[in-house]
Amino acid sequence: MTQMVERGTLRDQLVAWRRHLHMNPEVGFEEHETAAYIEGELRKMPGLTVTRPTATSVLAVLKGGKPGRTVLLRADIDALPIEEENTFEFRSRKPGVMHACGHDGHTAILLGVASLLAESAQEVPGEIRMIFQHAEEIGPGGAEELVMETNLMDGVDVVTGLHLNSQLPVGVVAVKPGAFMAAPDSLHLTIRGRGGHGAHPEQTVDPIAVGAQVVTNLQHVVSRNVAALDALVVSITSFHAGTTHNVIPDTAVLQGTVRSFDPELRQRAPRLIERVIRGVCEAHGATYELKYEFGYRPVINTDWVAAQLKEIALATVGSEHYQDAQPTMGGEDFSAYLQKAPGAYFNVGAGSDAADSRWPHHHPRFTIDEDSLVTGVQMLQAAALRLAQPE
Ligand SMILES: [Zn+2]
Ligand SMILES: [Zn+2]
Repeated sequence: MTQMVERGTLRDQLVAWRRHLHMNPEVGFEEHETAAYIEGELRKMPGLTVTRPTATSVLAVLKGGKPGRTVLLRADIDALPIEEENTFEFRSRKPGVMHACGHDGHTAILLGVASLLAESAQEVPGEIRMIFQHAEEIGPGGAEELVMETNLMDGVDVVTGLHLNSQLPVGVVAVKPGAFMAAPDSLHLTIRGRGGHGAHPEQTVDPIAVGAQVVTNLQHVVSRNVAALDALVVSITSFHAGTTHNVIPDTAVLQGTVRSFDPELRQRAPRLIERVIRGVCEAHGATYELKYEFGYRPVINTDWVAAQLKEIALATVGSEHYQDAQPTMGGEDFSAYLQKAPGAYFNVGAGSDAADSRWPHHHPRFTIDEDSLVTGVQMLQAAALRLAQPE
């Protein structure tokens, strides 16, 4: 397979796409302009069948000229409700909305792959489906909608996709078989006490004091109820109670996130957590309401797909730029596709001092080194061609 687009030209085009998207971010389920832009760019590429599976997602299908399997490539397209603090000229033009996770880059990469594959369709094996997925950042997630409510996955043999990663050096590709990204579940807790005068706590049931005990004791779920090698994170991330300095309030409202990989532990975690909450509340005469929500499934990469991606990475970027990926407690709705087909998700490094792109994801100064776009295209194009080869 020859690369039809010369490298300089490809990079320029990728940067143009990415910067247009970066300037015009939209949050999940509201990606109307984004989807229209993607559709317009895809329609300039001959040989693709372009449809809209949902209001704000776009699908491009390429039927290759050679026999082979059906491969799904996925890019997510949504932005975040963050006020951008970058000052470069292509910063977000929308107050309070920003591409702070790199999905603008993912979209540009998949557009690049689509253009290269379309130009060489006769030499492409099988069928390549390229899904520009909405709403990765917002539960219940766009992937679940596409998987459960459209026929996107019918006949798909294998699925892959990538996430740019500002914490890896630009040019690096990282792959991992098995457990890669955690299930992000959440808890919403209301503790009900009995309010009163701050000078007379003996006449009250203080939900703040009880809530503080709950927060402290929940850490024992991780440290004393779960084996050290079973990964579990319980973080209380929000605690709201009270209005002023001399009033004990009636209620305290807490929220938190619970991250795990193992399905058995994931099912057990809410029971362990509620046991602590119930015990602490009862001990102090408070009551509670607990809402526990299961989020995305964990991303568990299929071993043989990950092995092929590793081989592709070694051939594409060389052993000096390859890393075995570390599992992360972050979540991803790429897992929805893995219910229906084998597949693997991988990382492409996007961090560099030259581009000032080592800020964490979801930070107001997040950005990517745009050289990562070229690496992303090379990896995803090679993965598509390899995975589509007939068995
Ligand atoms: Zn994100
Ligand atoms: Zn992301």
